[in-house]
Amino acid sequence: MSSPEAPPPPADRLAGAPLAPDTLVVSAGRPARRHDAPVNPPIVVSSTFHGSGQVVDGDRAYGRYSNPSWDPFEEALAGLEGSELPGLLYASGLAAASAALSLVPHGGVVVIPRHAYQGVLVMAAELAAAGRFELRYVDVAETDQVIAALAGADLLWLESPTNPLLEIADLPTLVRAAKQLNPAALVIVDNTFATPLLQRPLEHGADVVLHSVTKYLAGHSDVVLGALVTPDPDLRERLLHHRSIHGGIAGPFEAWLALRGLRTLAVRIERSQATAGLLAQRLSEHPAVRSVRYPGLAADPGHARAAAQMGGFGSVLGFEPVGGAAAADALVERLRLWTPATSLGGVESLIERRRRHANEPETVPEALLRLSVGIENAEDLWTDLRQSLANSQTR
Ligand SMILES: *Cc1c(COP(=O)(O)O)cnc(C)c1O
Repeated sequence: MSSPEAPPPPADRLAGAPLAPDTLVVSAGRPARRHDAPVNPPIVVSSTFHGSGQVVDGDRAYGRYSNPSWDPFEEALAGLEGSELPGLLYASGLAAASAALSLVPHGGVVVIPRHAYQGVLVMAAELAAAGRFELRYVDVAETDQVIAALAGADLLWLESPTNPLLEIADLPTLVRAAKQLNPAALVIVDNTFATPLLQRPLEHGADVVLHSVTKYLAGHSDVVLGALVTPDPDLRERLLHHRSIHGGIAGPFEAWLALRGLRTLAVRIERSQATAGLLAQRLSEHPAVRSVRYPGLAADPGHARAAAQMGGFGSVLGFEPVGGAAAADALVERLRLWTPATSLGGVESLIERRRRHANEPETVPEALLRLSVGIENAEDLWTDLRQSLANSQTR
């Protein structure tokens, strides 16, 4: 039994080497190893914290400034993304996006992908319409086009793979170009689709990474949360201040659920990604399928780039059935195992036609179905799709 005076610190290295990401998801954010201490961090349900006299830096003070329930997840996510500074949890991915956009100077220029998470696009468009900043839209896979738009830009917003078209941005080249043109320009990468297990934008020089924790990190479709990670102390200070003052904070129960979900991230991704590759291949050979989008397919336009900068191709894919939007809707209705619902990254497989959302850009094909592959048996998932496709053959 270890001495209660000097508990050995939890390992963050073994034999001099940092722990692998698929270990960190399990080992990070654990309480100190004291006799009879809990193995999991407790949920702290308190809106205020003891204190008198002057409030100093590091005091918890009040539940909008900090909560011990956030710390383990914030530490674990930072470790996974490769930041020395803890991440910041938010009430949702969009609360995190709102905080991130607050970093743009008034009247500044933001370069943003034409296709990206639609809530982010709506938020940015509304802020631009109100005169907060100027927006320049780019096709994020067209590297020269993005670089041409960067002159005078204050912020490059990237998402890769993009939602829902799974376009791949050349992260190292674009970050380098943005910094060369303007050393003060910020690069923010929405890493929701890839997760830090498949892609680490900070290693390419990005300033801030954004996650909708709602998706893969929490992983069970039972919580809405967001997070930012930055290795830059000044940026983190500004973001922390924004969170404390604008109040988009996480609840302690949600933070606990997210950490619990994170523990299985590596095995969930390993499984769902293998199935996604299999389904993408089979769909691409099916006569009732017009086109498939999945960066893991050798013929996909993003394949080479994704292979170069990602540790895997992820678990989201898209396809267009023959017969247009009506055929796509009918196909979804015939499915018995896949759940027709928006969102992604959970253990259960979800499918939706993205253009059913009024705000989805019109350049997204009407019939495009987005599939979030879960961890069910791969053959069961295929059988459900195959049966539904068989009935949709246009005659
Ligand atoms: C869902 C999502 C968001 C928004 O996150 P919420 O948690 O729903 O607020 C942002 N970016 C991407 C890529 C997403 O999939």
